[in-house]
Amino acid sequence: MSRIIKGIFNFQKNVHGTKEQLFKNLGAGQKPLALFITCSDSRISPDMLTQTQPGELFIMRNAGNIVSPCSWDHASGEAATLEYAVKQLKVREVIICGHAKCGAVHGLLHLDTLDALPEVKRWLKFSEPVLAALKKDTAGMSPEEVLTIAIERNVLQQMENVKSYSFVREAIDRGELRLHSWVYHFETGTVLAYDQTKNRFVSLSDATKPQFSATKEEVETYIKSHQGGMDFTI
Ligand SMILES: [Zn+2]
Repeated sequence: MSRIIKGIFNFQKNVHGTKEQLFKNLGAGQKPLALFITCSDSRISPDMLTQTQPGELFIMRNAGNIVSPCSWDHASGEAATLEYAVKQLKVREVIICGHAKCGAVHGLLHLDTLDALPEVKRWLKFSEPVLAALKKDTAGMSPEEVLTIAIERNVLQQMENVKSYSFVREAIDRGELRLHSWVYHFETGTVLAYDQTKNRFVSLSDATKPQFSATKEEVETYIKSHQGGMDFTI
């Protein structure tokens, strides 16, 4: 714990003061660029990965970057977070960012080994459609390759779950919301994006537009109001 407390003292002493204006501005409210959904895995640091500042990303994390689909049977933290981001904060982008070597997806592939983790097992039911054609589609592949494919398909499945919410579909139809499916490989720093026209994950820089199909005006406004930050592509 002392490592964490020391970190806070270091932040207060050496970091906060250097960004005084930024933190002061945050007091006026937030207008994040995106809802960033990723795994709780400690190897992912969304702010570091996207080089964004406090106030720029609205972040939702859980084991396996899973979004429970629309249902009125029970309250859902994912539903509430998604609703707040889209309807209240009016984010323009929703990113689901899975990652290499995801323990949750590994668990999904080995559900029979999860008896000691019943909550994890229950949670993974929202990813189970991933298993449907996986065996057939990955015949002959190594376990590592199968895991990689399952991680990608899990991101796509969760995106379907995101789209199960009517307020998401309506915002997309109004042209106010875009969805992005990514996988982060932390060992290389690579981010792959799902390219709908190619129907596969490709390097973020090679993905067919619109990956962040912001208008020129949006990009200019964004650049003016931020230093650095998210890479919009036009
Ligand atoms: Zn994970």
